[in-house]
Amino acid sequence: MAKSFNAFEMAKKQFSNVAEILNLDEATRDLLKNPLREYHFSIPIKMDDGTSKVFRGFRILHNDARGPGKGGIRFHPQETVDTVRALSMWMTWKCAVVDIPLGGSKGGVICDPHNLTEREQERICRGWVRQISRNIGPLQDVPAPDVMTNAQHMLWMLDEYEIISAGKHPGMITGKPVGMGGSLGRTEATGYGVIFTVREALREMNIKPSDTTAAFQGFGNVAQYAIKLYNQLGGKVICVSCWDQQDNKSYTFKKNDGIKIDDLLKITDRFGGINKEKAKEMGYEILSGESWIENDVDILIPAALENQITKDTANKISSKVKIIAEGANGPTTPEADEVIKAKGIFMIPDFLANAGGVTCSYFEQVQSNMNYYWEKDEVLGKLDVKMTSAYLDVSKIAREKGLYMRDAAYVISIDKVAQACKDRGWL
Ligand code: NAD
Repeated sequence: MAKSFNAFEMAKKQFSNVAEILNLDEATRDLLKNPLREYHFSIPIKMDDGTSKVFRGFRILHNDARGPGKGGIRFHPQETVDTVRALSMWMTWKCAVVDIPLGGSKGGVICDPHNLTEREQERICRGWVRQISRNIGPLQDVPAPDVMTNAQHMLWMLDEYEIISAGKHPGMITGKPVGMGGSLGRTEATGYGVIFTVREALREMNIKPSDTTAAFQGFGNVAQYAIKLYNQLGGKVICVSCWDQQDNKSYTFKKNDGIKIDDLLKITDRFGGINKEKAKEMGYEILSGESWIENDVDILIPAALENQITKDTANKISSKVKIIAEGANGPTTPEADEVIKAKGIFMIPDFLANAGGVTCSYFEQVQSNMNYYWEKDEVLGKLDVKMTSAYLDVSKIAREKGLYMRDAAYVISIDKVAQACKDRGWL
């Protein structure tokens, strides 16, 4: 039987490759390869029908040498400790690559919000905070939304934290609703950030965005805003794929003359699932979920889940593709990276491409701690500056040292975090 995918093994493998390049000593490797702290706990919940259920929750802090931990909370039925470990490690590298003074962490609850009422989800959020309130907070570790969690979940969590700590601490969590401590621009930030990096890559290649086409996997928060900005730059999206809850499989929605984002949004649920029948009526071709990757486009943007571009699927990528920008975390396996390198496709790695979310979360935290909020243009302008300069730093190192972009981004991040651990006298 094939060995099942393990995100943490993949994150460690990526780390080890770069530890070699940087010639890191054994102790540094040992420290950075593993989380500093892990919390695993049970969350007992009263369900609406009067029964009780116990959910498993996690918070894992990979490293906080550069500042308080930062990282989302995922609600997912297939959540595993190793996925959370990997995601926490990627958060450390992500904060370092965009040079924000934060460390990396991640949390999660094994649950499926599709099968939970709003009230049950609220109880899970409050239960999660009750278990971990001593170990999170504006100066320790700051959660945020991730897959299947949103602004409402964050507000319930903040409320519970403020009840426990008997004070107002809006900087304890990010991704809150605007007007309740949230930052303008946060909803757009990750998707826009992906496109800021794509724009810079195209500029370096001397290609106009308006001369390009793209295919997306996923049609959730990241993909939707990435598509909006990419369209504004003149780019055309040929297809998007998404998960179909009823059929328990994914589909690709294709229109050769370009998908119409506003029309598609009207028939999309809050989980980023598109209504097949209505899409058909609108003239979309409905194809297999995997077919998004096989299109003759210039840019591929995986923006759904990890482990999507594997050795097998990478071999199906068209020779026309010039750029892969990873909106999702960990969508490409190390084996697929080798195929992508051999094909000469320019990779904008996840922890650089999708760092707009955490960068804006950092802006939200700063605003919340000051209790003073910026205008949207100011937030998005600052985001563009951060993302563009991070992109340029990575692409410069990649060119100077002849490195694959993922390795170049890792070299910058791991070097910064290792140095912070050394400067603090940990190593
Ligand atoms: P989301 O829940 O809003 O959307 C996920 C989308 O992926 C949905 O359209 C869903 O239908 C689709 N999907 C799920 N499984 C699929 C499959 N097998 N094939 C095709 N489509 C599938 O999530 P999101 O916030 O857009 O996050 C997407 C990815 O980006 C995740 O990897 C997440 O960790 C990463 N990310 C998100 C943010 C953020 O700010 N939202 C920041 C950084 C990274």
